[in-house]
Amino acid sequence: MQCQFYIPDKSNSLIKKCRLCEQEISIDQLPEKIYANCKQSENNNIHLTEKIKNYTKATKQWIKKGSPKRTNEEVNHIYDDICKPCKYFKGKSCKLCGCRVSKSKSGLTNKIRMATENCPIKKW
Ligand code: SF4
Repeated sequence: MQCQFYIPDKSNSLIKKCRLCEQEISIDQLPEKIYANCKQSENNNIHLTEKIKNYTKATKQWIKKGSPKRTNEEVNHIYDDICKPCKYFKGKSCKLCGCRVSKSKSGLTNKIRMATENCPIKKW
């Protein structure tokens, strides 16, 4: 998840602050810094509201498209070879989006199973 910057002080528009992790940047910093991963998500502090928002959006989209599921082979490959070794994998969840990732056959409890979902940093 990327930072969501805003200008906290209207009299000083050279400083921007992330509303999630509160890191500050100056507007003349390099673009890769401006689009940096949010420290909040790196620290596994994804807010419950954000988690619910992500889950609701994913579920609605999945149902709207007819609830397509990935095959067991696809899920096993993504889980074993991509998510489990990933630095953002914690317990049975992804620290970046807060979604559960597992080998479960249920799309409602497993982001990988939902064929409409993808990794937030495009690993799958
Ligand atoms: S969904 Fe992507 S970022 Fe999250 S644990 Fe899996 S590979 Fe890592």
